[in-house]
Amino acid sequence: MTDKYQGFVSSPIGKLLVKNLGLPNPTKLDRYTAGDPLVQGTVLVGGRGRLAESLPGLLDVLGIASVGEQAEGEKYKGLVFDATGITTVEQLVELQGFFTPLMRSLESCARVVVLGTPPGLVEGSEQIAQRALEGFTRSLGKEIGKGGTVQLVYVADGYEDSVLSTLGFLLSPKSAYVSGQVVRIGAHDETHGSALADWTAPLAGKIAFVTGASRGIGEEIARVLHRDGAKVVGLDVPQAADELVKVMNELDGDWLTLDITAPDAPQRIAHHLKEKHGGVDIVVHNAGVTMDKKLANQTPERFGKVLQINLEAPERITAELLEQGVINANGRIIGVASIAGIAGNLGQTSYAASKAGVIGFVDSLADKLKDGITVNAVAPGFIITQMTAAVPFATREVGQRLNAMSQGGLPVDVAETIAWYASPASTAVNGNVVRVCGQMMLGA
Ligand code: NAD
Repeated sequence: MTDKYQGFVSSPIGKLLVKNLGLPNPTKLDRYTAGDPLVQGTVLVGGRGRLAESLPGLLDVLGIASVGEQAEGEKYKGLVFDATGITTVEQLVELQGFFTPLMRSLESCARVVVLGTPPGLVEGSEQIAQRALEGFTRSLGKEIGKGGTVQLVYVADGYEDSVLSTLGFLLSPKSAYVSGQVVRIGAHDETHGSALADWTAPLAGKIAFVTGASRGIGEEIARVLHRDGAKVVGLDVPQAADELVKVMNELDGDWLTLDITAPDAPQRIAHHLKEKHGGVDIVVHNAGVTMDKKLANQTPERFGKVLQINLEAPERITAELLEQGVINANGRIIGVASIAGIAGNLGQTSYAASKAGVIGFVDSLADKLKDGITVNAVAPGFIITQMTAAVPFATREVGQRLNAMSQGGLPVDVAETIAWYASPASTAVNGNVVRVCGQMMLGA
């Protein structure tokens, strides 16, 4: 599945038309290849606050080279600004002071990360100033250009050392299609640390269960979790058994074929994971369907089916796995929502309800989970798969261009985001919904 427009604009005729007609000209995004350093270039660190002093050391653990001063003529692959020291509204101008001189010194696909304090945990002018950071980062994400991304990471007081896995993700090409996002770090359980012995195989020894794993985004999730060291147990419907077995054989994984809406599906999944693998560390609820129709033409069967597959099944399966204690300590539950669940979409009342419900699912569990188990979700935008190949051409073109990257994302972009949540070093990343949408103009 490819982006034909992107191929066209890099041809000689395409280049000419882009120049003369002002057509969008998407940058080829950097993507991560196993074995690469996380950042191919230098990161400049600035700002003042709770993290500034420890940042160079943290980046060093990740093998990322950093400097503290801008040098004449140098280009930077990343900028990290500690804004936790901004405690009054007047101090917000420090953002302009730091970033403006650097905006023309960024390499393509540069990464910008601003670190703040969760506004809800402070008061008065500090609360106002910290909330203002959202508007700053989201706007910078829309103007950085050349495949660059900008994120805001709110780090709760006392969790300064828990930012490692998040910095590794947000500064690397793994976050190619994630921009304008706000991530919250602050664990509910401190007994499960943020340290990792091997950053190249963070999931070694882990069992990862992925639904809808025979193709599309689910297949890529299985591949990336396998790359990171996990043993993958893929699930899909019996009709997709051949494709599923093929993928799982390739990944030295295990499989299970059933319809997740079957009444006994939660029990069968729990039994399989417990008996064959002694439990599960990572549960990814990826299987999903669309059955689009305007509400005026909708039937109860179709409306209900979408809700059953996308929302009820993840809820029931998770409840069973938790009740039976099948999810191991420091486990990960990961939902797949959609930007349709945030912004709504024409013809998608059932799909958007199911996907907004996935966000509700995260909210309902985030404060209740014990033993370092976390719950988070991704909300993909336009990802080039068989699901989106079925979208009519004009709608598809609009979907692909209406974002800060002027292109659709790839399944691997969703998978990398899930791998970041899945890392044992991400215990402090809980209750988040991160969009993988190239900063789509729709919604927040
Ligand atoms: P896809 O149709 O290519 O794959 C979905 C997989 O889920 C298939 O293998 C299918 O057999 C499986 N599945 C469907 N119903 C099932 C059931 N009842 N039991 C077990 N397995 C079942 O779709 P995709 O594009 O790879 O999407 C994966 C997820 O990402 C979905 O949840 C989708 O809603 C979400 N998503 C996709 C996009 C996109 O642009 N492609 C955007 C936002 C969200």
